[in-house]
Amino acid sequence: MRRIYFDHNSTTPLDSRALEAMTPYLLEFYGNASSVHSVGQSARAGLEKSREQIAMLLNCRPDELYFTSGATESDNTVVKGVADALAHKGKHIVTSRIEHHAVLEPCEYLSRHGYDITYLSVDRRGYVDPEELRGAIRDDTILVSIMQANNEVGTIQDIKKLCQIAHDKGVLFHSDSVQALGKIPVDIKDLGVDFLSGSAHKFYGPKGCGFLFAKTGARFTPFAHGGAHERNKRAGTENVAGVVGMAKALELAVTELGKNQTHISTLAKQLFDGLLQSVPDSHFQGDPDHRIVNTLFFTFPGAEGEATILSMDMKGIAVSSGSACTSGAVEPSHVLLAMGVRPEEAQTAVRFSLGKGNTKEDIEYTLEVLPPIIERLRMMSPIYAQSKTA
Ligand SMILES: *Cc1c(COP(=O)(O)O)cnc(C)c1O
Repeated sequence: MRRIYFDHNSTTPLDSRALEAMTPYLLEFYGNASSVHSVGQSARAGLEKSREQIAMLLNCRPDELYFTSGATESDNTVVKGVADALAHKGKHIVTSRIEHHAVLEPCEYLSRHGYDITYLSVDRRGYVDPEELRGAIRDDTILVSIMQANNEVGTIQDIKKLCQIAHDKGVLFHSDSVQALGKIPVDIKDLGVDFLSGSAHKFYGPKGCGFLFAKTGARFTPFAHGGAHERNKRAGTENVAGVVGMAKALELAVTELGKNQTHISTLAKQLFDGLLQSVPDSHFQGDPDHRIVNTLFFTFPGAEGEATILSMDMKGIAVSSGSACTSGAVEPSHVLLAMGVRPEEAQTAVRFSLGKGNTKEDIEYTLEVLPPIIERLRMMSPIYAQSKTA
Protein backbone atom coordinates (compact mmCIF):
# COMPACT_ATOMS: atom_id res chain seq x y z
CA MET A 1 0.00 0.00 0.00
CA ARG A 2 1.01 3.58 -0.62
CA ARG A 3 2.37 5.32 2.50
CA ILE A 4 2.00 9.06 2.84
CA TYR A 5 3.27 10.94 5.87
CA PHE A 6 1.54 14.23 6.66
CA ASP A 7 2.39 14.45 10.36
CA HIS A 8 5.69 16.33 10.37
CA ASN A 9 4.63 18.64 13.22
CA SER A 10 4.53 15.53 15.45
CA THR A 11 7.89 14.30 14.30
CA THR A 12 10.05 14.05 11.17
CA PRO A 13 12.13 11.22 9.76
CA LEU A 14 15.86 11.46 10.45
CA ASP A 15 17.80 13.01 7.54
CA SER A 16 20.32 10.39 6.40
CA ARG A 17 23.06 13.05 6.42
CA ALA A 18 22.39 13.65 10.13
CA LEU A 19 22.60 9.90 10.73
CA GLU A 20 25.92 9.84 8.90
CA ALA A 21 27.27 12.59 11.15
CA MET A 22 26.08 10.69 14.24
CA THR A 23 27.44 7.23 13.42
CA PRO A 24 31.09 7.81 14.45
CA TYR A 25 29.87 9.12 17.82
CA LEU A 26 27.95 5.91 18.41
CA LEU A 27 30.59 3.43 17.24
CA GLU A 28 33.98 5.08 17.62
CA PHE A 29 33.91 8.17 19.86
CA TYR A 30 31.53 6.54 22.35
CA GLY A 31 33.34 7.89 25.42
CA ASN A 32 31.70 9.83 28.21
CA ALA A 33 32.27 13.50 27.39
CA SER A 34 33.24 14.07 31.03
CA SER A 35 36.05 11.49 30.94
CA VAL A 36 39.68 12.59 30.90
CA HIS A 37 40.93 9.88 28.52
CA SER A 38 41.11 10.44 24.80
CA VAL A 39 37.99 8.51 23.80
CA GLY A 40 36.09 10.76 26.22
CA GLN A 41 37.83 13.85 24.93
CA SER A 42 36.95 13.09 21.32
CA ALA A 43 33.30 12.89 22.40
CA ARG A 44 33.73 16.21 24.22
CA ALA A 45 35.20 17.75 21.07
CA GLY A 46 32.17 16.63 19.01
CA LEU A 47 29.82 18.03 21.62
CA GLU A 48 31.52 21.43 21.79
CA LYS A 49 31.94 21.72 18.04
CA SER A 50 28.20 21.09 17.70
CA ARG A 51 27.48 23.74 20.32
CA GLU A 52 29.49 26.29 18.36
CA GLN A 53 27.79 25.30 15.13
CA ILE A 54 24.26 25.64 16.60
CA ALA A 55 25.19 28.96 18.23
CA MET A 56 26.39 30.30 14.89
CA LEU A 57 23.24 29.13 13.07
CA LEU A 58 20.95 30.73 15.65
CA ASN A 59 23.05 33.82 16.39
CA CYS A 60 23.80 33.36 20.08
CA ARG A 61 26.87 32.46 22.14
CA PRO A 62 27.86 28.79 22.52
CA ASP A 63 27.82 29.13 26.32
CA GLU A 64 24.19 30.25 26.16
CA LEU A 65 23.09 26.81 24.88
CA TYR A 66 22.15 23.93 27.19
CA PHE A 67 21.51 20.50 25.68
CA THR A 68 18.40 18.70 26.91
CA SER A 69 16.34 15.60 26.14
CA GLY A 70 13.97 17.67 23.99
CA ALA A 71 11.69 20.65 24.08
CA THR A 72 9.43 19.23 26.79
CA GLU A 73 12.40 19.34 29.14
CA SER A 74 13.52 22.76 27.86
CA ASP A 75 10.03 24.25 28.37
CA ASN A 76 9.68 22.70 31.83
CA THR A 77 13.14 23.93 32.80
CA VAL A 78 12.32 27.52 31.88
CA VAL A 79 8.86 27.70 33.41
CA LYS A 80 9.68 25.94 36.68
CA GLY A 81 13.32 27.06 36.81
CA VAL A 82 12.54 30.78 36.46
CA ALA A 83 9.61 30.42 38.87
CA ASP A 84 12.00 28.99 41.46
CA ALA A 85 14.92 31.34 40.85
CA LEU A 86 12.76 34.50 40.91
CA ALA A 87 10.17 33.53 43.53
CA HIS A 88 11.51 36.29 45.80
CA LYS A 89 10.60 38.84 43.12
CA GLY A 90 7.11 37.61 42.34
CA LYS A 91 4.91 34.63 41.56
CA HIS A 92 3.08 35.70 38.42
CA ILE A 93 3.61 34.21 34.94
CA VAL A 94 1.95 35.24 31.67
CA THR A 95 1.46 32.75 28.84
CA SER A 96 -1.14 32.12 26.14
CA ARG A 97 -4.06 29.72 25.85
CA ILE A 98 -2.60 28.08 22.73
CA GLU A 99 0.79 26.98 24.09
CA HIS A 100 2.02 23.40 23.80
CA HIS A 101 1.23 21.25 26.83
CA ALA A 102 4.96 21.30 27.67
CA VAL A 103 4.40 24.95 28.72
CA LEU A 104 0.77 24.78 29.86
CA GLU A 105 1.18 21.86 32.24
CA PRO A 106 4.20 23.19 34.16
CA CYS A 107 2.16 26.41 34.52
CA GLU A 108 -0.76 24.41 35.89
CA TYR A 109 1.64 22.65 38.26
CA LEU A 110 2.91 26.03 39.49
CA SER A 111 -0.62 27.33 39.98
CA ARG A 112 -1.17 24.48 42.44
CA HIS A 113 1.92 25.66 44.31
CA GLY A 114 1.10 29.28 45.00
CA TYR A 115 1.84 30.88 41.61
CA ASP A 116 -0.63 32.93 39.63
CA ILE A 117 -0.87 32.31 35.88
CA THR A 118 -2.49 34.59 33.29
CA TYR A 119 -3.49 32.87 30.05
CA LEU A 120 -3.75 35.37 27.19
CA SER A 121 -6.57 34.88 24.71
CA VAL A 122 -6.06 34.69 20.94
CA ASP A 123 -8.17 35.97 18.07
CA ARG A 124 -9.98 33.90 15.43
CA ARG A 125 -6.71 33.27 13.55
CA GLY A 126 -4.64 32.45 16.63
CA TYR A 127 -2.86 35.74 17.36
CA VAL A 128 -2.04 37.06 20.82
CA ASP A 129 -2.97 40.74 21.23
CA PRO A 130 0.18 42.72 22.19
CA GLU A 131 -1.97 45.22 24.10
CA GLU A 132 -3.52 42.43 26.13
CA LEU A 133 0.01 41.28 27.02
CA ARG A 134 0.99 44.82 28.04
CA GLY A 135 -2.03 45.05 30.31
CA ALA A 136 -1.41 41.61 31.85
CA ILE A 137 2.10 42.33 33.12
CA ARG A 138 2.16 43.31 36.80
CA ASP A 139 4.78 44.27 39.38
CA ASP A 140 5.07 40.64 40.46
CA THR A 141 5.34 39.18 36.91
CA ILE A 142 8.55 37.18 36.49
CA LEU A 143 8.17 35.48 33.09
CA VAL A 144 6.26 35.73 29.82
CA SER A 145 6.17 32.57 27.67
CA ILE A 146 4.69 32.72 24.17
CA MET A 147 5.40 30.26 21.37
CA GLN A 148 6.78 31.43 18.04
CA ALA A 149 4.74 29.19 15.70
CA ASN A 150 1.78 27.13 16.80
CA ASN A 151 2.06 23.38 16.26
CA GLU A 152 -1.63 22.88 15.42
CA VAL A 153 -2.64 25.87 13.27
CA GLY A 154 0.81 27.23 12.37
CA THR A 155 0.12 30.86 13.32
CA ILE A 156 3.37 32.83 13.71
CA GLN A 157 3.45 35.42 16.52
CA ASP A 158 5.42 38.65 16.36
CA ILE A 159 7.89 37.49 19.02
CA LYS A 160 10.17 40.50 18.64
CA LYS A 161 7.32 42.87 19.47
CA LEU A 162 5.89 40.74 22.30
CA CYS A 163 9.38 40.35 23.81
CA GLN A 164 9.92 44.11 23.69
CA ILE A 165 6.71 44.65 25.65
CA ALA A 166 7.92 42.26 28.39
CA HIS A 167 11.36 43.91 28.45
CA ASP A 168 9.82 47.40 28.67
CA LYS A 169 8.49 46.24 32.03
CA GLY A 170 11.68 44.42 33.05
CA VAL A 171 10.23 40.91 32.62
CA LEU A 172 12.05 37.88 31.15
CA PHE A 173 10.69 36.41 27.90
CA HIS A 174 10.67 32.77 26.72
CA SER A 175 9.59 31.41 23.35
CA ASP A 176 8.94 27.79 22.43
CA SER A 177 10.33 27.96 18.88
CA VAL A 178 10.10 24.24 18.11
CA GLN A 179 7.80 24.69 15.11
CA ALA A 180 9.60 27.74 13.75
CA LEU A 181 13.09 26.19 13.47
CA GLY A 182 13.73 25.05 9.92
CA LYS A 183 10.48 26.61 8.69
CA ILE A 184 11.21 30.32 9.08
CA PRO A 185 14.52 32.06 9.85
CA VAL A 186 15.19 32.19 13.61
CA ASP A 187 17.74 34.76 14.79
CA ILE A 188 17.90 34.77 18.58
CA LYS A 189 19.68 38.09 18.93
CA ASP A 190 17.20 39.78 16.60
CA LEU A 191 14.21 38.30 18.46
CA GLY A 192 15.71 39.57 21.72
CA VAL A 193 14.38 36.67 23.83
CA ASP A 194 15.93 35.55 27.12
CA PHE A 195 15.02 31.87 26.65
CA LEU A 196 14.19 29.76 23.60
CA SER A 197 13.38 26.04 23.26
CA GLY A 198 14.15 23.75 20.32
CA SER A 199 13.86 20.05 19.52
CA ALA A 200 15.96 18.08 16.99
CA HIS A 201 13.28 15.63 15.87
CA LYS A 202 11.06 18.42 14.55
CA PHE A 203 13.74 19.41 11.98
CA TYR A 204 14.86 15.96 10.74
CA GLY A 205 17.24 15.34 13.64
CA PRO A 206 17.12 12.49 16.16
CA LYS A 207 14.43 12.08 18.84
CA GLY A 208 15.26 12.65 22.50
CA CYS A 209 17.55 15.60 21.92
CA GLY A 210 16.89 19.32 22.19
CA PHE A 211 18.31 22.54 23.51
CA LEU A 212 17.52 25.47 25.71
CA PHE A 213 18.95 28.89 24.93
CA ALA A 214 19.32 31.01 28.04
CA LYS A 215 20.79 34.47 27.63
CA THR A 216 23.88 35.22 29.71
CA GLY A 217 22.67 36.37 33.13
CA ALA A 218 19.09 35.07 32.73
CA ARG A 219 18.62 33.05 35.92
CA PHE A 220 16.92 29.68 36.23
CA THR A 221 17.17 26.79 38.67
CA PRO A 222 18.31 23.54 37.01
CA PHE A 223 15.70 20.87 36.40
CA ALA A 224 17.99 17.89 37.05
CA HIS A 225 20.66 17.70 39.71
CA GLY A 226 23.44 15.14 39.82
CA GLY A 227 26.56 16.42 38.12
CA ALA A 228 28.39 19.41 36.74
CA HIS A 229 27.35 18.78 33.12
CA GLU A 230 26.25 21.73 30.97
CA ARG A 231 27.91 24.23 33.30
CA ASN A 232 25.97 22.97 36.33
CA LYS A 233 22.63 23.62 34.62
CA ARG A 234 21.67 20.17 33.34
CA ALA A 235 23.03 17.09 35.08
CA GLY A 236 23.34 13.84 33.16
CA THR A 237 25.72 12.24 30.66
CA GLU A 238 25.44 14.19 27.44
CA ASN A 239 23.72 12.60 24.43
CA VAL A 240 26.76 13.27 22.24
CA ALA A 241 25.60 11.47 19.09
CA GLY A 242 22.19 13.11 19.45
CA VAL A 243 23.69 16.58 19.75
CA VAL A 244 25.99 15.98 16.76
CA GLY A 245 22.96 14.83 14.74
CA MET A 246 20.97 17.84 15.91
CA ALA A 247 23.73 20.25 14.82
CA LYS A 248 23.95 18.60 11.39
CA ALA A 249 20.15 18.58 11.01
CA LEU A 250 19.92 22.25 11.97
CA GLU A 251 22.70 23.16 9.54
CA LEU A 252 20.75 21.42 6.75
CA ALA A 253 17.45 22.95 7.89
CA VAL A 254 18.93 26.45 7.81
CA THR A 255 20.95 26.16 4.59
CA GLU A 256 18.14 24.38 2.70
CA LEU A 257 15.28 26.38 4.23
CA GLY A 258 14.51 28.36 1.09
CA LYS A 259 14.48 25.34 -1.18
CA ASN A 260 12.40 23.22 1.23
CA GLN A 261 9.87 25.91 1.96
CA THR A 262 9.35 26.71 -1.73
CA HIS A 263 8.66 23.03 -2.42
CA ILE A 264 6.38 22.63 0.61
CA SER A 265 4.52 25.85 -0.04
CA THR A 266 3.62 24.71 -3.59
CA LEU A 267 2.29 21.41 -2.26
CA ALA A 268 0.44 23.10 0.59
CA LYS A 269 -1.32 25.46 -1.79
CA GLN A 270 -2.34 22.53 -3.97
CA LEU A 271 -3.76 20.73 -0.93
CA PHE A 272 -5.41 23.88 0.42
CA ASP A 273 -7.19 24.69 -2.85
CA GLY A 274 -7.99 21.04 -3.48
CA LEU A 275 -9.62 20.49 -0.09
CA LEU A 276 -11.77 23.61 -0.32
CA GLN A 277 -12.84 22.54 -3.80
CA SER A 278 -13.41 18.82 -3.34
CA VAL A 279 -14.86 18.69 0.19
CA PRO A 280 -17.99 20.82 0.54
CA ASP A 281 -18.34 22.71 3.82
CA SER A 282 -14.65 22.41 4.75
CA HIS A 283 -13.06 25.16 6.82
CA PHE A 284 -9.44 26.21 7.06
CA GLN A 285 -8.48 27.18 10.62
CA GLY A 286 -5.77 29.75 11.30
CA ASP A 287 -4.24 32.43 9.14
CA PRO A 288 -4.09 31.35 5.49
CA ASP A 289 -1.68 34.16 4.58
CA HIS A 290 0.85 34.16 7.41
CA ARG A 291 1.74 30.82 8.95
CA ILE A 292 4.36 28.10 8.80
CA VAL A 293 3.33 27.01 5.31
CA ASN A 294 3.60 23.26 5.92
CA THR A 295 0.66 23.32 8.33
CA LEU A 296 -2.98 23.00 7.21
CA PHE A 297 -5.59 22.57 9.92
CA PHE A 298 -9.08 21.91 8.59
CA THR A 299 -12.43 21.20 10.14
CA PHE A 300 -14.99 19.07 8.29
CA PRO A 301 -18.28 19.60 10.19
CA GLY A 302 -20.22 16.36 10.61
CA ALA A 303 -17.20 14.06 10.24
CA GLU A 304 -15.66 13.16 13.59
CA GLY A 305 -11.90 13.87 13.48
CA GLU A 306 -10.67 10.61 14.99
CA ALA A 307 -12.83 8.62 12.56
CA THR A 308 -11.41 10.58 9.62
CA ILE A 309 -7.87 9.92 10.81
CA LEU A 310 -8.46 6.18 11.20
CA SER A 311 -10.13 5.97 7.78
CA MET A 312 -7.23 7.85 6.19
CA ASP A 313 -4.73 5.59 7.95
CA MET A 314 -6.44 2.59 6.36
CA LYS A 315 -5.70 4.24 3.01
CA GLY A 316 -2.06 4.73 4.02
CA ILE A 317 -2.17 8.43 4.92
CA ALA A 318 -0.87 9.60 8.31
CA VAL A 319 -2.50 12.78 9.63
CA SER A 320 -3.35 14.03 13.11
CA SER A 321 -6.30 15.57 14.91
CA GLY A 322 -4.29 17.98 17.03
CA SER A 323 -6.49 17.00 19.94
CA ALA A 324 -5.22 15.35 23.07
CA CYS A 325 -6.48 11.89 23.91
CA THR A 326 -6.77 11.94 27.69
CA SER A 327 -7.97 8.82 29.49
CA GLY A 328 -9.64 7.41 26.40
CA ALA A 329 -11.89 10.40 25.81
CA VAL A 330 -10.97 12.64 22.90
CA GLU A 331 -10.87 16.27 23.96
CA PRO A 332 -11.29 18.87 21.23
CA SER A 333 -8.15 20.90 20.45
CA HIS A 334 -7.52 23.57 23.12
CA VAL A 335 -6.08 25.75 20.36
CA LEU A 336 -9.26 25.71 18.26
CA LEU A 337 -11.41 26.32 21.34
CA ALA A 338 -9.21 29.31 22.26
CA MET A 339 -9.69 30.63 18.71
CA GLY A 340 -13.45 30.51 19.23
CA VAL A 341 -14.29 27.39 17.22
CA ARG A 342 -17.37 25.64 18.60
CA PRO A 343 -16.53 22.35 20.41
CA GLU A 344 -18.68 20.28 17.98
CA GLU A 345 -16.74 21.68 15.06
CA ALA A 346 -13.36 21.41 16.82
CA GLN A 347 -14.05 17.66 17.19
CA THR A 348 -13.92 17.35 13.39
CA ALA A 349 -10.42 18.80 12.99
CA VAL A 350 -7.72 17.18 10.87
CA ARG A 351 -4.15 18.50 10.70
CA PHE A 352 -2.02 17.99 7.63
CA SER A 353 1.62 18.88 8.33
CA LEU A 354 3.77 18.51 5.24
CA GLY A 355 7.48 17.86 4.97
CA LYS A 356 10.32 18.05 2.50
CA GLY A 357 9.85 14.45 1.37
CA ASN A 358 6.23 14.89 0.24
CA THR A 359 5.37 14.96 -3.45
CA LYS A 360 2.71 16.24 -5.81
CA GLU A 361 1.46 12.65 -6.12
CA ASP A 362 0.93 12.52 -2.33
CA ILE A 363 -1.41 15.50 -2.61
CA GLU A 364 -3.26 14.10 -5.63
CA TYR A 365 -3.82 10.75 -3.91
CA THR A 366 -5.08 12.50 -0.76
CA LEU A 367 -7.52 14.62 -2.75
CA GLU A 368 -8.84 11.43 -4.33
CA VAL A 369 -9.19 9.49 -1.09
CA LEU A 370 -10.42 12.08 1.40
CA PRO A 371 -13.69 13.42 -0.12
CA PRO A 372 -15.47 10.02 -0.11
CA ILE A 373 -14.30 9.41 3.48
CA ILE A 374 -15.81 12.68 4.68
CA GLU A 375 -18.99 12.04 2.72
CA ARG A 376 -19.41 8.57 4.24
CA LEU A 377 -18.79 9.82 7.80
CA ARG A 378 -21.25 12.65 7.31
CA MET A 379 -23.93 10.24 6.15
CA MET A 380 -23.45 8.35 9.40
CA SER A 381 -23.93 11.56 11.37
CA PRO A 382 -27.70 12.02 11.79
CA ILE A 383 -27.33 15.53 13.14
CA TYR A 384 -25.25 16.72 10.21
CA ALA A 385 -27.48 15.03 7.60
CA GLN A 386 -30.55 16.63 9.19
CA SER A 387 -29.00 20.10 9.33
CA LYS A 388 -28.22 19.89 5.62
CA THR A 389 -31.70 18.78 4.49
CA ALA A 390 -33.53 21.22 6.79
C1 LIG B 1 6.84 18.71 19.70
C2 LIG B 1 6.72 19.97 20.47
C3 LIG B 1 7.22 20.09 21.78
C4 LIG B 1 7.81 18.90 22.52
O1 LIG B 1 9.07 18.57 22.03
P1 LIG B 1 9.75 17.17 22.42
O2 LIG B 1 11.15 17.34 21.98
O3 LIG B 1 9.02 16.13 21.65
O4 LIG B 1 9.64 17.00 23.88
C5 LIG B 1 7.12 21.29 22.42
N1 LIG B 1 6.57 22.36 21.82
C6 LIG B 1 6.09 22.30 20.57
C7 LIG B 1 5.49 23.51 19.94
C8 LIG B 1 6.14 21.11 19.85
O5 LIG B 1 5.63 21.05 18.63
